[in-house]
Amino acid sequence: MESLKEQLACLRRQADQINEKILDALNEFFTISNQIGEVKEKMKMAFYDPVRESEMLKEMEAKNKGPLSQDKMKRIFREIFAASIEEMIMGEQKRLKISRLPGSKNSVIEVRGVSIGAEMPVIIAGPCSVESYDQIWETASQLNNLGVRLLRGGAFKPRTSPYSFQGLEEEGLKLLRTVADEFGMGVVTEVLGDRDIELVVNYADVIQVGTRNMLNYSLLKELGKIRKPILLKRGFMATIDEFILAAEYIYLGGNTQIILCERGIRTFENQTRNTLDISCVPILKKETTLPVIVDVSHSLGRKDIIKPIARAALAAGADGLMFEAHCDPASALSDADQQLDPEETKDLIDYLTQHFVFGDRKSGPAR
Ligand code: PEP
Ligand code: MN
Repeated sequence: MESLKEQLACLRRQADQINEKILDALNEFFTISNQIGEVKEKMKMAFYDPVRESEMLKEMEAKNKGPLSQDKMKRIFREIFAASIEEMIMGEQKRLKISRLPGSKNSVIEVRGVSIGAEMPVIIAGPCSVESYDQIWETASQLNNLGVRLLRGGAFKPRTSPYSFQGLEEEGLKLLRTVADEFGMGVVTEVLGDRDIELVVNYADVIQVGTRNMLNYSLLKELGKIRKPILLKRGFMATIDEFILAAEYIYLGGNTQIILCERGIRTFENQTRNTLDISCVPILKKETTLPVIVDVSHSLGRKDIIKPIARAALAAGADGLMFEAHCDPASALSDADQQLDPEETKDLIDYLTQHFVFGDRKSGPAR
């Protein structure tokens, strides 16, 4: 018995030593495979190469002297190869220009004296669409009185139906700029396609890319060439990774001023217009250095739960909120149901300032 015990202890010591060797060999293997990943990335090659993998397994099969069975040997190596591909993908993501690395600073975007992505959150509000001088003036005036510094409004409207109001286009941009200038506000407005960029740039302080355009790579590339902040909305069918890569397209072109906007994704739930993915906020903050704002109007499509949801978005770490406000929502030409009327707007802002200190106004207790 005593000698068997000694034998077991001795074999265990040998196994421990071999474990160490396997570990060293694995680390050596992953060092090389990560380098292969970097080279493949530069060559724009796919990380996974099934032909090469089966060749490697065949070679191993020929060299395997046992007692490890061929099946088990192949299973183990397949696991190792799969893990190496995973590492390559993770490495690629870490190498994105917008990735947050240890010690990275937050990107702060300055828009007419408002810092987006700094310590305190900000508000972007305004009607869904610019409809007339009186409508945009009335709405902006009321928002200005409430301390809102960034005015949103669509002049080019991406409507599901081609028969719905499409926006006032250049006339709308002019009205928005004129009124915003009167109140010293910044303008956030959407561009629908490459050919309108030049026009929109002349009037906007922040150019919005709507949810339907998040995957429009030619538009994203063009926006990478300009030097104005871009508010990039998450595609309603896009994963967080796809959202991050869309922002990388803009950044890669040289335009580093990007604000990410979560606006809800399409799910089977139909009590809200979209499903607001709150977890996306801390994930985007963790994985990128970009400011993240939450559009509580398009995500919900309803007003009755806007207060707790806006509070939740800020509690999750959002750098700001976007919502639709209209001087007379009942007469609105788009999204009438979700736009806040003047009283509701005041009520929401009063509520939020009880809980958070905003960077674009001066009241309320600490965040
Ligand atoms: C908008 O903000 O006007 C808009 C159309 O939003 P989304 O692209 O998120 O639907
Ligand atoms: Mn709208």
